[in-house]
Amino acid sequence: MSILYKPSIYAKDIYHINYPLLKKQNIKYLLFDIDNTLADSKEKYPSKDVIKLFNKLKKDGFTLILISNSLPHRALKFARILNTKTYFLSFKPLSYNYHRLIKKFKINSQEIAAIGDQLLTDIKGANKLKITSILIDKKSLNESFITKINRYFENRLIKKYQIIKRGEYYE
Ligand SMILES: [Mg+2]
Repeated sequence: MSILYKPSIYAKDIYHINYPLLKKQNIKYLLFDIDNTLADSKEKYPSKDVIKLFNKLKKDGFTLILISNSLPHRALKFARILNTKTYFLSFKPLSYNYHRLIKKFKINSQEIAAIGDQLLTDIKGANKLKITSILIDKKSLNESFITKINRYFENRLIKKYQIIKRGEYYE
């Protein structure tokens, strides 16, 4: 059971992920969470640094997709500025949108890595489909009520399974 909540990789943030290594492992598709992964939930637009990173990753041959639980207007705005596809209202960890995109892009889960800040949504959602799951630190303390509830359970899981030793896990 606990394996569902165990990230394949930990990183400090989206800028500290070893993308060349992912490439070597034949990962071609990167799924990004939006809130507290790409942006603080109060930030209305992706920052210049995020735009720069996305352009670089695209140049390196990755296909980038936003998979978010946020509302359509926010997800679509980010997707428009970053020039990516997006799946919003995904209700991660539910698998519906993961299945949709796997079918649409005709890919298999071994070619995908998903990046997010929450064990209960991003990591569990990816692990269910055997997608490489990458946990990063949340960007800020600004979080929705639902996320705060998720964090409570997340902290209990972390303690119970000792799956994360924060501050020790960066490569
Ligand atoms: Mg998030």
